[in-house]
Amino acid sequence: LIRLEGITKRFKNLTAVDRIDLDVFPGEKLVIIGPSGSGKSTLLRSINLLEEIDDGVIRFQGREVGYVTSHGRRHLDRPPAVCALRTEIGMVFQHFHLFPHMTVLGNVMEGPLTVRKMPQDEARQVATDMLSKVGLSDKRDVFPATLSGGQKQRVAIARALAMRPKLMLFDEPTSALDPELVGEVFDTIHTLADEGMTMIIVTHHMGFARELADRVIFMESGHFLAQGNPHEFFSVGQENERIRSFLNRLL
Ligand code: ATP
Ligand code: MG
Repeated sequence: LIRLEGITKRFKNLTAVDRIDLDVFPGEKLVIIGPSGSGKSTLLRSINLLEEIDDGVIRFQGREVGYVTSHGRRHLDRPPAVCALRTEIGMVFQHFHLFPHMTVLGNVMEGPLTVRKMPQDEARQVATDMLSKVGLSDKRDVFPATLSGGQKQRVAIARALAMRPKLMLFDEPTSALDPELVGEVFDTIHTLADEGMTMIIVTHHMGFARELADRVIFMESGHFLAQGNPHEFFSVGQENERIRSFLNRLL
């Protein structure tokens, strides 16, 4: 579905993402773990073209959409392709980034209305469907400030889904939540996974990673240090000193 080739992102002289290659297949559930500062968020943001990458190619369904460097000259490769890509990829952040002045329904309708140029009635229908999918039909007319963290995050998920994305990116979707609210967000992500959504999730919850992932990737210093199916990863990972100490610190 999406292929990264040699993706590199630098901040001044820090290389946050260092020549990453990655293929994500339709329906695949990928979990990325790794220490703070290893480049996980930067990688997700690069996939969604929220970061201007310094090198590499991003292909989505075979189309080249990323920024490409040719002989050190960086240029934006066909802006329409970038816009198209952003509508195909949904992203959910650690902090929910809801629009505070809009109702829950308004938040979820916003993308379809403004980006997809959907008629009002149709956008309302899509938003209503997505809110029911995340179990928040009864909250459609309230403002985000009145919601719990878990509810806000589920609205953020509904908002991303309303764009009918082919790929969902989750960047530590539960790390700003009180522990008792984590489960409802994971359940929502699980439901999506069961429906066949392709997703890349950055999380520190190893139990969730183990249950959900088709593939787990350990990232460190901008590189992929190891990857494998959860079974391989959590057993073989124990043999790698750095992964073992990372996993042990989480327990
Ligand atoms: P965490 O687990 O804490 O979220 P992370 O793996 O998501 O960490 P990133 O946020 O991708 O890590 O950061 C990777 C590196 O890039 C870090 O050293 C960080 O300080 C640096 N970095 C990230 N964003 C910027 C920025 N906008 N400007 C400068 N440096 C940045
Ligand atoms: Mg991060």
